Amino acid sequence: MAKDNKKYDKLNIEKINLSLQAGMFNQRIIYEYIISSTNSLSKELACNGYPEGTVVIAEAQTAGRGRLGRAWESPSGKGIWMSFILRPDIMASEAPFITIITALSCAKALERVIGISPGIKWPNDIIYNKLKVCGILTELGLDSKMSKINFIVLGIGINVNIDVSDFPDELKDKAVSLKNIVGKKVNREAVIIEILNIFYDLYSAAVKSSFNNDFRKELIGEYTKYSITIGQAIKVMGADGEKEREAVGITNEGELIVINSHGVEERINSGEVSIRGINGYI
Ligand code: ADP
Repeated sequence: MAKDNKKYDKLNIEKINLSLQAGMFNQRIIYEYIISSTNSLSKELACNGYPEGTVVIAEAQTAGRGRLGRAWESPSGKGIWMSFILRPDIMASEAPFITIITALSCAKALERVIGISPGIKWPNDIIYNKLKVCGILTELGLDSKMSKINFIVLGIGINVNIDVSDFPDELKDKAVSLKNIVGKKVNREAVIIEILNIFYDLYSAAVKSSFNNDFRKELIGEYTKYSITIGQAIKVMGADGEKEREAVGITNEGELIVINSHGVEERINSGEVSIRGINGYI
């Protein structure tokens, strides 16, 4: 349980539990005051057999992570630093689709709770006005043959009531918080409830459809409406250097479809690359 510390806004976990629809997330929240990373604790719990739907929420993270080992700033009491465990019956190669469902859930939740129109930077960032308000980190536990998924941990970091001045210098022109966007404090519980309820609906429908192609196509169509990557000239930064491409779509598995300068289509997997705008971060 979180330590009592009056200096920080504490999340009302009871209120969250009461507002979650009956199902995998309800009454499964583990709440901590400060931990290294909600993804790290969730992976540990998943390895110890904790079930699908286990949620870990912390007021602060000392070693929050983005993709490719990058640091994620997570000051206390002002953000949503949350991860949850899933155990879908899918192949490892299908995992990017889960990131797509998560990003879509976060974008829809922000739209509903605070009335903004966010964009999604493929695959995993929620953007407002070219600034990052939310990041998602997907990590996998695989079976011994390294092909089927044993568990997936989805980490979500949202800057809620952080002020721009609280961000370290290198983030000041990259990051934004919900408070900065709407000009007043935002209720963190409401955002968490909406994300988990929307995710639950989408994920249950995906499981029910056995992740079939029609369902995927429909969801990718919805995701594409929020995409700020598709239709753009982008820089793809990977192990083999930097290349300019045009982003044209997303596959049913969640890969980015790009076109090179010779008009040839390529598929890009999110685990390997970072995407940047031609002239800047977005
Ligand atoms: P990208 O692929 O866009 O670089 P990642 O998913 O790897 O993003 O996330 C890590 C990056 O996000 C960091 O390198 C940093 O630039 C940025 N970042 C770190 N903390 C925050 C935060 N609280 N809000 C917004 N951006 C952040």
